[in-house]
Amino acid sequence: MVYRLEKLMGIHTAEAIVLRRYPFRETSVTLSCLTDVFGKLKGLVKGLRAQPNRYRSPMEPATINRIVFYDTRTSQLHLMTQCELLSPLNGLQRDVETMRLTCLCLELVETTVPLEEPQPAIYQLLRRTLERLDGGPSVGAEALRVHFIVRLLRLVGFQPQLDRCTGCGAVVHLTGYWSAKQGGLLCQGCRYEDPRANAAAPEMLSALEALVESDAPVALERQVVLALRQRLDEFLRWRLDRPLKTLTT
Ligand SMILES: [Zn+2]
Repeated sequence: MVYRLEKLMGIHTAEAIVLRRYPFRETSVTLSCLTDVFGKLKGLVKGLRAQPNRYRSPMEPATINRIVFYDTRTSQLHLMTQCELLSPLNGLQRDVETMRLTCLCLELVETTVPLEEPQPAIYQLLRRTLERLDGGPSVGAEALRVHFIVRLLRLVGFQPQLDRCTGCGAVVHLTGYWSAKQGGLLCQGCRYEDPRANAAAPEMLSALEALVESDAPVALERQVVLALRQRLDEFLRWRLDRPLKTLTT
């Protein structure tokens, strides 16, 4: 009987990175997390706030956990019955800049990744990025930031258009005018469509092309990273349905 009930409810185990968390009633929390096999989920954890405070408890934002949850198939809020902290990633709290970048990564995933669609590549991207940030990134925080944004946008199918003009569709390669509003490059002839469009340096465009296909961050010249960061931030401001709270300049 128990077995049949379990089958009906669907009991699952997954690895989960917490994206957001809210208090719920006296002692419980609701949260949003990205899992390795089930994609982004919303969950309810009962009694979590009653646990004694430790430095990094299970199911805090930006921790990696193993969870057991019931899939009731009638609600998108799943009951999470077990949460085991696998990795607290304490290094993410070492300074304000690292915390800011962590929050940006979490918010970007929360904003762009749809609920309940398996996204193993995005899970691995988020996990590796947080682990690199936790350990002190060898390529620099800015390079890590631009890689994460470019790869995530690619994996959710939302990347800037770099191979064809966003106005007329003409082939452009490593040349053109960057238009955050249009979502990519404009050719010389279509430049008038966005008065704010400005010439994109070929080095920046080739770095962008390399990042789109790279699983790991790439060491880049400082001015290329800064130019990329600025263009990507503009892109996110124009192209996302709602503004990111964590996007600061
Ligand atoms: Zn054009």
